Amino acid sequence: MTRAALRGAARSPYDLDREELGHYLADQPAYRARQVWQAMYGHDLRPDEMTALPRPVRDRLAAALPPALHLETESVSSDGQTIKWLWSGADGAAVETVLMLYPDRATVCVSSQAGCAMNCSFCATGQAGFRRHLSAGEILEQVAVARRRARPRRLSNIVFMGMGEPMANYDRVWAAVECIQADMGISARHITVSTVGVIPGIRRLSRETLPVNLAVSLHAANDELRNRLVPLNKRYPLDHLVEACRQYQAAKGRRLSFEWALIDGINDRPADARELAAIAGPLGAHVNLIPLNPTPGYRVRGTDRDGVRRFRDELLRLGVNATVRRNRGTDIDAACGQLAARSAGLGAREELT
Ligand code: SAH
Repeated sequence: MTRAALRGAARSPYDLDREELGHYLADQPAYRARQVWQAMYGHDLRPDEMTALPRPVRDRLAAALPPALHLETESVSSDGQTIKWLWSGADGAAVETVLMLYPDRATVCVSSQAGCAMNCSFCATGQAGFRRHLSAGEILEQVAVARRRARPRRLSNIVFMGMGEPMANYDRVWAAVECIQADMGISARHITVSTVGVIPGIRRLSRETLPVNLAVSLHAANDELRNRLVPLNKRYPLDHLVEACRQYQAAKGRRLSFEWALIDGINDRPADARELAAIAGPLGAHVNLIPLNPTPGYRVRGTDRDGVRRFRDELLRLGVNATVRRNRGTDIDAACGQLAARSAGLGAREELT
C-alpha cells in the first residue's frame, strides 16, 4: 500500500511521500522539495520552523500542512527524565507519547492507535476502549517531536509500547517503521514492536526484511490465567503463540522478549516462574519484569520489591534471562499500562472498524 492509501482520515505532513510533497512546491526550484524533506526527516522541523525557506514558501507550507497531532498537555516527571505528551488528532482522538531520557540517549514509546481494542484487564488503555488507528504520519510525528526534544541526546530506541496494538494496525505501523529506518536514519534494529500476541502479525513480521525486535506481552504462561488477563488469548492460545514466536526467531534471528507485569498473588508465584521458564527457556527469550502499575479499573496490586526480586532470581536459577524494568513516569501516569488520555472531552468511543 502507498503511504497515501494508509493516510486514512488523518493527514499529517509525514503521510506525504516525496512526490506528494513536491506538489506543494510545484512552482519552486527542484531542490526545494529535497530541502523540505530533509528538514522534516533529518532535522524534525515543522514547516513553520523551516527558517531556511523563503518566508512566503514557509507560510504557504505551514498553512497547507499543519501537524496532525495538536499538543494538549506536556507532563514532566519530578526527576525531569520522563516526558509525556497528550495529543489530539483533528477529529479529537486522544493519543499519548512518552519520552524517556538517559544521560546520553533517549527512548520514545509511541502509540499506534488512539485507544486499544484488546481489552487487557489491567491496562488503562484497554479499559478506555478503542477509537481509531493512527496513520503512519501520526506515528512519525511522535518520533520527530521526541527526537527534537531529546537533543543533544541521540534518540536511540523506538518502542511501539504506547497506546494501541501495533499488529492490529500493521500496514500503517510498518509504513512508519520503513520510514524511520530509510528517511529518519534510525536502524530497524533499534525499533521494537510489542504485541499482545496477534499471531498473523507475528507471522507477517517474520517475512519482513527489516530486522525489528519483537516483544510479546505474555503476563501468564498458562491459558486459564492468560485468558483472564489478556482476552485475545482465547483466540490465539499459548501453544500457537509460542510456535509463532519460534518461527519468528528461526526466520529473523532477532531478539525476542516477553513482557511480564507482576501482579500480587496472581502471576508472581514460584509456579508461575516455572511455567514461564518452560516457555522462555527453549526460545532463549529475554524476560522483562515490571511490577504492575496501578490503573483505575483493576484493583489488584503490583508485586512488592522483594517479590519482584524473588521472581527474577527464580527465573535466573531456571536459566532464563530476566531483568527488572525501572518504573518510570508513575507520577505523571506515564508508566507502562497507564496511558489513558483521560483529558476531558477527548477520546469518545467509536465502534471498531
Ligand atoms: N498492545 C501492545 C503494545 C502496548 S505495550 C502490547 O500489549 O504489547 C504496553 C505494555 O505495558 C504491554 O506489555 C502491556 O501488557 C503492559 N501493561 C499494560 N498495563 C500495565 C500495567 N498496569 N502495569 C504494567 N504494565 C502494563
